[in-house]
Amino acid sequence: MSARLELGWEEWLSLPELGLPAIKAKVDTGAKTSALHADNIERFINTDGENWVRFIIRPSPDRPRLKRVCEAPISDEREVTSSNGQTETRIVIVTDMIIGAFRRKIQVTLTNRETMSYRMLLGRSAIGNDAAVIPTRSFVQGELSYALYSAKVGIKTTEPQNLSLAILTREPKNYSSSRLIEVARDRGHNIDVINTSRCYLSVGKEHSEVHYDGRALPTYDAVIPRIGASMTEYGMAVLRQFHSTGAWCLNEAEAIGRSRDKLLAHQLLARAGIGMPDTAFAHSPKDTRDLVSLVGEPPVVLKLLSSTQGRGVVLAETKKAAESLVDAFRGLDANFLVQGFVKEAAGADVRCLVIGGKAVAAMKRQAQAGEFRSNLHRGGTAKAVKLTPSERRTAVRAAKVLGLEVAGVDILQSAKGPMVLEVNSSPGLEGIETSTKIDVARQMIEHLEKKVARLSIRKRHR
Ligand code: ADP
Ligand code: MG
Repeated sequence: MSARLELGWEEWLSLPELGLPAIKAKVDTGAKTSALHADNIERFINTDGENWVRFIIRPSPDRPRLKRVCEAPISDEREVTSSNGQTETRIVIVTDMIIGAFRRKIQVTLTNRETMSYRMLLGRSAIGNDAAVIPTRSFVQGELSYALYSAKVGIKTTEPQNLSLAILTREPKNYSSSRLIEVARDRGHNIDVINTSRCYLSVGKEHSEVHYDGRALPTYDAVIPRIGASMTEYGMAVLRQFHSTGAWCLNEAEAIGRSRDKLLAHQLLARAGIGMPDTAFAHSPKDTRDLVSLVGEPPVVLKLLSSTQGRGVVLAETKKAAESLVDAFRGLDANFLVQGFVKEAAGADVRCLVIGGKAVAAMKRQAQAGEFRSNLHRGGTAKAVKLTPSERRTAVRAAKVLGLEVAGVDILQSAKGPMVLEVNSSPGLEGIETSTKIDVARQMIEHLEKKVARLSIRKRHR
């Protein structure tokens, strides 16, 4: 650019790499380096092991609820003496600045001094030697507007804001995780991918932190748990810890615990009057025969309580077969249940996705020929299905009774009406999104946005 940069004493500019389309800056030829007024300045190590900083910018002094979470690599740290004589160590970042028709890389220090009435001070090194500053004029390079912040972000009910999110998963590349990450980023949020098993916790009176790779993790607005069955207990502890640092959890640890404990889940659902197959639970019963007869005439289904994906679920056609199976299970020293076989379900069940008390998608899974387990992992096939009103009610109530914001409720269509088989707190998204063409991941993130927005309003009124 050959034209000379002319600046007034205040100018609008944008910092595109930080996701800040409009900032009003005061031109300060008395300072060498530029400064940004940021909140919650936190260092973190990104997935490539580099030192980064995350901070919040509230671009408009008149609209404190308008905020952006920004991330940038740390370029340097430096002692800075401000105009009032105070010295502090500041993080320095390097980022692109667009001002009028000019674009250049500038150095910016981050500070959280409350007294700054402009969100940015533009120092000499950013202005450059070629610029002319006209102290009697404003906005020589044209005006921008804070309305530019509304363009990209999801929340319509309140000030647009992007959120600082974390997803807890050991499988960041699987369909469900990558869809959630993609949607969150698409809607302008920052999302950290955290391997639950690598988190460690500092629990104390003064502060609770989650550590990862040698550092305390920053605080998040919300956490999305995708905790596998093998990690339930530790995953719940990690989630509780995030909760106690102020993060909203897409499913709470206690609710995940209730759904994972099949015995407890069945008891809670039964107490709430939700339909389910006749079920008897046992650990290592002496009275095999009585246990089997509790659930009525054969055939009966036996399930290891630790079963997932249909692996520990077997059908016993006769009383004899059932008793031998109970004896075999007893030898395993495992918790199991015996359940009446719902024959009319005909090898099919309905998976209903409930988000925030609404049934948003449903598919019917049909088992392979000769198989009664409809799990997709057992070769079942899925297609979209329209729920009956009573199925819908049952699914929504089941999620509510367990306290789950997001749940995959499995229902058998029995002659006596819908019967809940299980409630999944980390439902897979691939089958349901593919068969129904519904963007479930987006609905999950939108629900999270709404909840966090409501929470932050409540916090402010406290
Ligand atoms: P898992 O947790 O291993 O998936 P489920 O309880 O969901 O175990 O059972 C797996 C599948 O077996 C179900 O999806 C359903 O198709 C079938 N099934 C389970 N229980 C019954 C039952 N009582 N009557 C008929 N079919 C059943
Ligand atoms: Mg199942």
